[in-house]
Amino acid sequence: MKVICDYCGAKVPKYETVISPEDGKRHCFNCFNKKISQELGIDFEAVNFDPITLEDSYGGKHTFHFRSLLVPTGKLIEAFELKDGEPGGYMSGVLDGFSCDISDLKIKLLNRLQRLMKHKSLKMLHGSWTLVSPGIIRGRIEYGFGEDSPTVIIDGKYFTWDEFGRMITSYEGWQFRLKMVDKTDED
Ligand SMILES: [Zn+2]
Repeated sequence: MKVICDYCGAKVPKYETVISPEDGKRHCFNCFNKKISQELGIDFEAVNFDPITLEDSYGGKHTFHFRSLLVPTGKLIEAFELKDGEPGGYMSGVLDGFSCDISDLKIKLLNRLQRLMKHKSLKMLHGSWTLVSPGIIRGRIEYGFGEDSPTVIIDGKYFTWDEFGRMITSYEGWQFRLKMVDKTDED
């Protein structure tokens, strides 16, 4: 879905816009980066990187798109797949200080994506996805579709809260640790 930037009038994909918390106006990334760089007095050139395709540990191919942004805490690059025209599937990001080189930051992100693709939180058992054991389950939380319960995305695959509940049930009697981690943190 394409939307219009309230500042320059450019027609851009919705995921390439930021809504300003101050006035509720929509900025395209160009206008947003310009605004932040003026506020902070820092030069910043948004870099558009070409999409790349990587293979995950299940043999699936995933095409990543990139977006670079200046945020109040530094330079940010995000990588994401597109699902129905919106960011989805595997996602990752890297954030570093204002003085960092954007190309170095991209290399950091590519290395991180490669590690992410190698990680396996799921295994197929009798035709259903189950959680690996022992091991760490890495995932992302998103709003469910019109429901109160979230959707859980593990290794780029979508599970409803009920499906995730069934996967956890096989660990009945076990204990768990739950750690919330920012998308730009690797842990
Ligand atoms: Zn704009």
